[in-house]
Amino acid sequence: MAILYLVGLAGVLMMESAQCSADQTGGGQDRSIEAQRMVADQLRARGIADQRVLAAMQKVPRHHFVPEDEQASAYHDGPVPIGHGQTISQPYIVAFMTEALRLTPDDVVLEVGTGSGYQAAILGELAREVYTIELVPELAAGATRTLASEGYLNVHVRSGDGYLGWPEHAPFSKIIVTAAPEVVPEALVNQLAVGGTLVVPVGPQHGAQQLRILTRTAKGVTTERSLAVRFVPMVKPPQ
Ligand code: SAH
Repeated sequence: MAILYLVGLAGVLMMESAQCSADQTGGGQDRSIEAQRMVADQLRARGIADQRVLAAMQKVPRHHFVPEDEQASAYHDGPVPIGHGQTISQPYIVAFMTEALRLTPDDVVLEVGTGSGYQAAILGELAREVYTIELVPELAAGATRTLASEGYLNVHVRSGDGYLGWPEHAPFSKIIVTAAPEVVPEALVNQLAVGGTLVVPVGPQHGAQQLRILTRTAKGVTTERSLAVRFVPMVKPPQ
């Protein structure tokens, strides 16, 4: 208990001294302190324990993935608008879904709903290759630019319909969907490797949605029902 308290106190002192230097040096430092607080207060305090996930969320500059006029709220405890009626998810939800994937450096991951590219960057830190699909071409183009300028050579963005998955690179050891379909898309389950995990929010646009964690086994699929969530809908484009 005493040791924990001391560690806690040291942490506070370190943050305060970092805050002082941030005030003198400005911008980038301030954001890294905001990231530190986000990790401590929004993630660790709520039970996110995977050290690799916490380190990735500390490292990836979330403010580079939101529009200029939203940068001040990039690290706040909620979703942030990214244009075209879409949002980048709340940090806790990004961390929770990423932790649920149990990523290893060998994983090949499919993400549906690239949006800003932030979740894809987190995946890029933790997996071997990331393939991410975005329906809105302008968002796909924006995410491609941001991910390239942040140096994520292992993240590949495509504009298209996520309901179809990305068959050319299947099977995927992990799949994450960051928009809500009404039922789990069959093509995505088919593109999941045996032993793989699919994390997806399921439910109607204006009703109760729930995160589901599916595991594909040799015999079929098992489903764990998890958090109640609210995502933008996964849109079915006209055929
Ligand atoms: N993961 C994103 C946030 C996702 S918001 C981030 O980190 O910023 C959900 C995204 O899913 C939106 O950008 C939306 O355009 C996209 N989307 C909705 N329906 C889709 C579909 N059928 N295929 C691919 N992307 C879709």
